[in-house]
Amino acid sequence: MDFWENLKDKVTHAGHTVAKKSTELVEITKLKVAITDTETTIDKTLRNMGEALYEAYKTGAESYTSLEESCEEIDAAYAKIEELRARIAELKDVKACPACKKEMEKDALFCSACGEKFE
Ligand SMILES: [Zn+2]
Repeated sequence: MDFWENLKDKVTHAGHTVAKKSTELVEITKLKVAITDTETTIDKTLRNMGEALYEAYKTGAESYTSLEESCEEIDAAYAKIEELRARIAELKDVKACPACKKEMEKDALFCSACGEKFE
């Protein structure tokens, strides 16, 4: 490959890398917004549960079916957040420590934040 061809190739390649990086950034931002939305849903559900519990206390009701449903919704929301965080880590080419959730280099052997050893 002659000099100019080689240079052109490098410039084109760099352009692609930059484009890929910004697509990833947009994707990461979207995922972060989705996490914030899910956290807001959890907060709302918790508040509704508190109100329902108080209502039950006031009326002497003994059925907490709606509270159980709310707990399941919250479980599902936390699972969704985990999933979204895992996708962000994948895009950023890092892994999250299973113990403390801090982001580490993919080839790290242990967590530099909490000392957890990685398999
Ligand atoms: Zn850790």
